[in-house]
Amino acid sequence: MEELLFYAPVLLILLLAVVTDGADDYAEMRWRMVEDQIIARGIRDSAVINAMLKIPRHEFVPPESRESAYGDSPVPIGRGQTISQPYIVALMSEVLGPAPGRKVLEVGTGSGYQTAILAETGAEVYTIEIIPELAERTRRLLEKLGYTDIHFRVGDGYAGWEENAPYDGIIVTAAPGDVPEALVSQLKVGGRMVIPVGGENQELLLIEKSEKGVSYRKVTSVRFVPMTGEPGAEKV
Ligand code: SAM
Repeated sequence: MEELLFYAPVLLILLLAVVTDGADDYAEMRWRMVEDQIIARGIRDSAVINAMLKIPRHEFVPPESRESAYGDSPVPIGRGQTISQPYIVALMSEVLGPAPGRKVLEVGTGSGYQTAILAETGAEVYTIEIIPELAERTRRLLEKLGYTDIHFRVGDGYAGWEENAPYDGIIVTAAPGDVPEALVSQLKVGGRMVIPVGGENQELLLIEKSEKGVSYRKVTSVRFVPMTGEPGAEKV
């Protein structure tokens, strides 16, 4: 009985999604994705779950890949890049701790799916993409979907986005060899950064800054595209 009560809010969200979203052909795929890949693997943040139920992931992949958009894997989006696996997007979002009004820097806009999840949870999002063509395509898509308050920049995320620092949260969606120092310095005291680090073998790290200093914790092993750009760009 206690277990049923624990899951009741999640079940209610799922039920509402089915009832209210019947007109969307992809709603069932989205529902299955959330049930099988997100909730079944332990994601519990209701803001993240709601965002994943709402956002039309198939809009973020090339037209020929729409049927694969809700599968349990990354999907190519062109220029050698990918939209991240749904579970990894959910995990990174949950670990970051989304909350309305939090100022979040995202490095690696890519398809914009993670960007949309952050915006949907109420964060004030600043996002940087190094490939101009991807950045422009994504900016247009997110505007079309109604996300008009996102701040975009084309550039090398190794240097972060100093003008708007410090950030409550920083999320990096490509893997550098080492943690870029500029990003750590742009994190607020009390802030969190989620970042994949490494080469062939990568670890997703949660970095937290407190009055006492900076702590590093491994979350899980991951496989992201490598971060391009110049590690030296962080030495501003
Ligand atoms: N969360 C994104 C999504 O779901 O679409 C992930 C996109 S992909 C895994 C990583 C993105 O990081 C790519 O678009 C790539 O061009 C970008 N990227 C790589 N190195 C970068 C850098 N130094 N600065 C900014 N963006 C970078």
